[in-house]
Amino acid sequence: MVDLDQSAGAAAPITHIKPPASTAALEHRNLLEGEFWRKIPAYEKVDRETFLDWKWQAKNSVNKVSKLLAGLQDLVPQSFYDDVQEGFARAPMAVRVSPYVLSLIDWVEPYNDPLRIQFIPVASRMKPDHPFLDLDSLHEKADAPVPGLTHRYPDKALFLPLNTCPVYCRYCTRSYAIGPDTEEVEKFALRVNKERWAKAFQYILERPELEDIVISGGDAYQLRPEQIEYIGNKLLELPNVRRLRFATKGLAIMPSKVLTDHDWLDAITRVVDRGRALHKEVCIHTHFNHANEFTWISRDACNVLMERGITVRNQSVLIRGVNDTVDTMSMLVRRIAYHNVHPYYVYTHDMVKGVDELRTTVGTAVEVEKHIRGTTAGFNTPTFVCDAPGGGGKRGVHSYEYYDRVHGVSVYTAPNVKPGEYFCYFDPIDLLPEEGRNRWANPDEHSKIVDEALERARADR
Ligand SMILES: *Cc1c(COP(=O)(O)O)cnc(C)c1O
Ligand code: SF4
Repeated sequence: MVDLDQSAGAAAPITHIKPPASTAALEHRNLLEGEFWRKIPAYEKVDRETFLDWKWQAKNSVNKVSKLLAGLQDLVPQSFYDDVQEGFARAPMAVRVSPYVLSLIDWVEPYNDPLRIQFIPVASRMKPDHPFLDLDSLHEKADAPVPGLTHRYPDKALFLPLNTCPVYCRYCTRSYAIGPDTEEVEKFALRVNKERWAKAFQYILERPELEDIVISGGDAYQLRPEQIEYIGNKLLELPNVRRLRFATKGLAIMPSKVLTDHDWLDAITRVVDRGRALHKEVCIHTHFNHANEFTWISRDACNVLMERGITVRNQSVLIRGVNDTVDTMSMLVRRIAYHNVHPYYVYTHDMVKGVDELRTTVGTAVEVEKHIRGTTAGFNTPTFVCDAPGGGGKRGVHSYEYYDRVHGVSVYTAPNVKPGEYFCYFDPIDLLPEEGRNRWANPDEHSKIVDEALERARADR
């Protein structure tokens, strides 16, 4: 209790130097409460217990336009369904949206909603691909000694035990592998397979320099409790392994699983506890992109993880129309940090096919980062990175050797990962000044644009 009894103390009134905080400055603490899903026609009669049930969430996820129609009914006009139908057909990722996400979308204005933008493709907003886009732009397959294990950095590796997620994000960097095949893309198989996993464990053991393993995917939400424990224990038993991270988007799109899938939560807790006993760190990396994803259900889930002593960090992707302004990013950072989720990274959107309307420029990333730094604790301040196309790894977004803003070419080096090489990231063409757009319109100019930028980068070094 705060002691407000003025009569008891001698304290003279304090002079405040700063003006009082505005209500807006504390808005990140106000979460969506109540049974917000009931405004969706199909969930009108769904009670709290049912809505929180992770099995119900998984079973009722939307992966077809017919299911979207059944869920929303006349909340949106037929023209929107037609647009989505066409969007589904053209998207490189399969579509899967949880009832939780569906309930958080503003269906009065679905075109501009930050959650709709991330999960439900509409054909009318799609832009032509940049000529240098690629499905596996990070070259994860090229850096994989065994399928599903990418060893790019000296002491850490990325293990992909499976290829499914509870939702599919349109901007996924692993559209080469994640989710079922689509009309556009036949996927590279990374199914659950203990023999493939055993090869990964063997490889990690044979590389004593590997200390840090990211278990991603796919999504750790999709691993059964016994699989979580099996993978966790196998890796913790390797003497060289010191740190594990289980990556899951779950907290952002289906937080109630933490509250209702007790076996899953207990399995992960046992791995964390075993790690702690061995003086090895095991934590969760999650993936919030917008403050609207964080509701009272997320708060309850984060509180449970806090009580169990599980560290949660967040990796966001900078997405046009979602979190590419100072206000939206600042709200996200403060809201998740308030609930003990540490903002760790903000990635520039990878150069994946079919989603150029979601990407933004390196210049925007640099500008947003400049404003975010200083708003809260340093350890809750995300580092903005560009995962250099072609396998250069993560680079501080502002650490480019050269940035041509007219043609949207930034050139990075990665001395500790691929010494001597240069890596280019390309801004989406529709956001460039006219001069740049015109030059990209001529295919004969493409390699010249790149060569000029590389030449300048070399000269500037
Ligand atoms: C991102 C990533 C890691 C982990 O990198 P951190 O900077 O430590 O988060 C490891 N391996 C690969 C291939 C990655 O892409
Ligand atoms: S949860 Fe991660 S791996 Fe799965 S679709 Fe989204 S970005 Fe891709």
